[in-house]
Order: sequence, then C-alpha cells, then structure tokens
Amino acid sequence: MKTYISQLYPFVAHILNVVKENVRIYLMPSICAYCKKFLSTQDIFCSACKDKIFRVVSKQIDITPSVSVTVFAISDYKDPLKRLILGKSWSNSLASHYMGQLMWDTLPLKELDCDVVVPIPLHWTRYAYRGFNQAEEIARVISKKKNVPMCSALKRIKKTEYQSVLKSTLRGQNLKEAFALNAAQAERCEKKHILLIDDLMTTGSTIRAAVKTLLPLKPKKITVAVVCRVV
Ligand SMILES: [Zn+2]
Repeated sequence: MKTYISQLYPFVAHILNVVKENVRIYLMPSICAYCKKFLSTQDIFCSACKDKIFRVVSKQIDITPSVSVTVFAISDYKDPLKRLILGKSWSNSLASHYMGQLMWDTLPLKELDCDVVVPIPLHWTRYAYRGFNQAEEIARVISKKKNVPMCSALKRIKKTEYQSVLKSTLRGQNLKEAFALNAAQAERCEKKHILLIDDLMTTGSTIRAAVKTLLPLKPKKITVAVVCRVV
C-alpha cells in the first residue's frame, strides 16, 4: 500500500501543479522575479537583473582516487538566481524552465557529448509536498534541447535534512547512503556519458553521494551541471 501511494501521489501532485502553473501563466502579467518590474515579454528577469548574475568558472571534484567530475554552474549562490532557487518552497515550474534555458544559454552544454540526463531526485515525501522536483524540471529542459533521454537512474532512499541548514561537518554524514540506483531505469545509463543535474551545489556532498551511487553502472563519464554553486 505504502509503495502504491509513493508511486501515485507524486504523479497526481505533478498533474495538479502543471494545471495550476499553466493557469497562472495565462492569467498573470509577466513581472521580473527579482525587482518586480513589468516585462513586455514572458520572462523571469528584466535585462538589468540578468546583468547582475555573477558568473562562475567550472570546478573539478575528486570522487575516488581515479574518478573526478567537472561541475558547471551558471553563478555563485547569490541573487537574482538565489531567489529563483529558494522559490522551490512553493511550486513554480516556470522558474525551473527558465533556469534550464539559462543553463543552456550560458553553460557549454551544446558541445557536451553526453548520452543521458539524470536529475538529482527528491525523497518522495518532499516531492509530494512540493508537487515537483526543480532538478527534474531543469533536466527535462536540457534533455529536450540536447535530444538525449532523461533517465531517473537515482532514487532517494533516506529523507535527509536540507544540506543548507546543516553544519558542514554533518553534511557528508547526512547523505551517507541517501541514494540508490532506480532498478527500473538505471540500466539505460550503463557505460554512458551521464549529465547529472541539480539546482544548487553547496559543499558538493550531494553530488559526491550521487556520483558514487552511479559508479557501479560503469559510466563512460559523468559531468555535472547546477544552476548555482556556493563559492
Ligand atoms: Zn528585474
């Protein structure tokens, strides 16, 4: 019964969210998500706020002595993008779509020879509460633009505390065995170049835990793209 609810509830929540979001987009005038200025076209930020986005360079993270991954991020964890990410406390798939578009426009993803896009998952209870997973919505945008499949190869098996509220010494511990391979989909990622997507990277503990979980699939390569990275 619990498994049935865990499968059905996120699906229903997602459908309701898509309907609500489409009604909202249709009825509401477009305003800048940061300064609230009215916009003439459907967008999230005005051009002045777009100019405030503080760009960061890519970062290499060592996972094991022989495996390391490159993390691409659009910006530091600062406004105006920080406000978009924090907006995940309430449903806002338009913001996720914009973050996906911004990732596509600013990161070197067009040239990346990845075979599959994998989002960092949420625990199903958190998914049910929010109605959507920001990382998954962003991954969906990138998957369409790259014309490669999105694969939910990972699942959260432990409801972890939010990384941002934990002391850095507890972050690795919090994520110990937080992920497992999603048996139904993981095979599709075997020996592939995986592009792993998340909204925010703080210390890198989540990325490390997720990449370690993917390693038994013997991926050709793993590259990571996030919206913001704490620098
Ligand atoms: Zn603005």
